[in-house]
Amino acid sequence: MIIRDVRVLGGEPVDLRLHDGVIAEVGPGLKGAGEEIDGGGAIALPGLVDLHTHLREPGREDAETVETGTQSAARGGYTAVHAMANTSPVADTAGVVEQVWRLGREFGHCDVQPVGAVTVGLEGRQLAELGAMADSAARVRVFSDDGKCVSDAVLMRRALEYVKAFDGVVAQHAQEPRLTEGAQMNEGVVSGRLGLTGWPAVAEEAIIARDCLLAAHVGSRLHVCHVSTAGSVEILRWAKSKGWNVTAEVTPHHLLLTDDLVEESPVGAYNPIYKVNPPLRTRADVEALRAALADGTIDVVATDHAPHPVEDKESEWSAAAMGMIGLETALGVVQGAMVDTGLLDWAGVAERMSYAPARIGRLAGHGNPIEAGAPANLTLYDPSHRAPVDPSSFASRSRNTPYRGMTLPGRVVATFLRGKPTVLEGKLV
Ligand SMILES: [Zn+2]
Repeated sequence: MIIRDVRVLGGEPVDLRLHDGVIAEVGPGLKGAGEEIDGGGAIALPGLVDLHTHLREPGREDAETVETGTQSAARGGYTAVHAMANTSPVADTAGVVEQVWRLGREFGHCDVQPVGAVTVGLEGRQLAELGAMADSAARVRVFSDDGKCVSDAVLMRRALEYVKAFDGVVAQHAQEPRLTEGAQMNEGVVSGRLGLTGWPAVAEEAIIARDCLLAAHVGSRLHVCHVSTAGSVEILRWAKSKGWNVTAEVTPHHLLLTDDLVEESPVGAYNPIYKVNPPLRTRADVEALRAALADGTIDVVATDHAPHPVEDKESEWSAAAMGMIGLETALGVVQGAMVDTGLLDWAGVAERMSYAPARIGRLAGHGNPIEAGAPANLTLYDPSHRAPVDPSSFASRSRNTPYRGMTLPGRVVATFLRGKPTVLEGKLV
């Protein structure tokens, strides 16, 4: 197959020849027989890799399944996702991670790499079978209690020590539990005005500081999930300046949205579509997160795609579930927040949405530059497209997007997984 007229990382127009799941040739005016696809001048990116996806299967197939979640991922330009462990049952044994891995092989429209829980049942009391999950067919390398924080310092230390044996990483959901009891939104001016219990920045920052120190102390790898505050950025910058093995991610929504949407938004006040954990923060936090992603203090954009059925989201603010879907809008939000603002070029996007997440997850076959010999995992993207976000067009089973009706830039034209299209002309194949 030859893909004509694409711009690799936004460069000069070239053709790509794919053969046997691999990029065989890159260059202008390629000759060859077989099927041809007109790239139409689209930007070619390496297939995106998400470090933080909630696929909800097993247990909450009313919200999402491996099939619909990976369809959603493919439409967003992803060729691999890390499936978070807070399913039902929890992915805390070799048996459950292998089940998720097999579901991915059978129904996946992209590769599914299971994340293993750090503690049994995400209960924070006893380490899960980390070694057995690492040795299983799923070859787990990322461990996380995401949704909950591993708040016990001794357990966190042990987990960091344990994963060293197989080059694993502990991905922490940094939330000091006592400081966030009953928290409803960011603690600040808006929460004060609305009388909602606040989720203070210090509850995130205190755990990140502690875990950076622990990771350095035991010489292990720490990854910080969904960093949301300017103070967290300062701590990460300090930890990296020490040469410690610490990486971090930011979500698209924390790069764009702020906590005043809880008070006033196009969809009214107290709309739970904006309820998410960690919460939306302030404009100053958004600016600090963008700068940190641009200068590499934050390594990765990860979606934290968190599907919820309508009945869990369309209730009063205090009762609503926390979370937003994000796979199908991630690249558009990143373009708007980072590329169109001049903070990142397309090579920078490739690093933060493909190379770095694959490297941190130790995911073979993904996150490779677009060059001859690399696996043909590709995303073709048209940055000039403009259209209001229409959730009814989403492949996800859930509709809890905060961008409904907003005009986001760009469109994923096509996605290729090992040379086979999973999306063409914006539609699932
Ligand atoms: Zn989380």
